[in-house]
Amino acid sequence: QRLITDLKAAIRSIPDYPKPGVVFRDITTLLGDARAFRRAVDELVHPFAGGRVDKVAGIEARGFILGGAIAHQLSSGFVPIRKKGKLPHETVRIAYSLEYGVDEMEIHTDAIGQGERVILVDDLIATGGTAVAATQLLRQMGANIVAACFIIDLPDLGGAKKLRDLGVEVRSLVSFE
Ligand code: 5GP
Repeated sequence: QRLITDLKAAIRSIPDYPKPGVVFRDITTLLGDARAFRRAVDELVHPFAGGRVDKVAGIEARGFILGGAIAHQLSSGFVPIRKKGKLPHETVRIAYSLEYGVDEMEIHTDAIGQGERVILVDDLIATGGTAVAATQLLRQMGANIVAACFIIDLPDLGGAKKLRDLGVEVRSLVSFE
């Protein structure tokens, strides 16, 4: 409980960003705090330590920072899921809805082999639009998703529930109502 309080205190809340009425949860302060960053990564991975994880898939961009650290900790590979047009080799692409409009994310076709055990990572889950699309993309590639890990869950927005309904184990450290 102490850990959760400390991690929560290391996250900065920015009112009216990126637009009026929204409180943005800024994890750069947590990442910049050596102790908080290490503890967050350790706490996220500890259920999976000792088990087999072939790849950690991180969602651009904050999922790369956490995902790299988690992959290192679990001695697994890291694969990026990127906004369209950024990956140089052949990709698989999926469209997903944002609050306004749609966007597309993609992954290299050879990034994940059939049946590989994968952990999906992002900094925060809100409506789940991003993570659900990433889940579909990974499953399309034959991934066996071991879990999806986030530092922050916004449970009122229902994203974690959506992922669980898809049969994905969801792990998050702190939640903001
Ligand atoms: P969702 O698709 O679940 O609605 O939104 C989650 C995505 O938007 C994640 O990729 C996350 O990085 C980003 N995001 C949305 N709101 C916030 C926020 O308040 N703080 C941070 N750090 N990321 C956010």
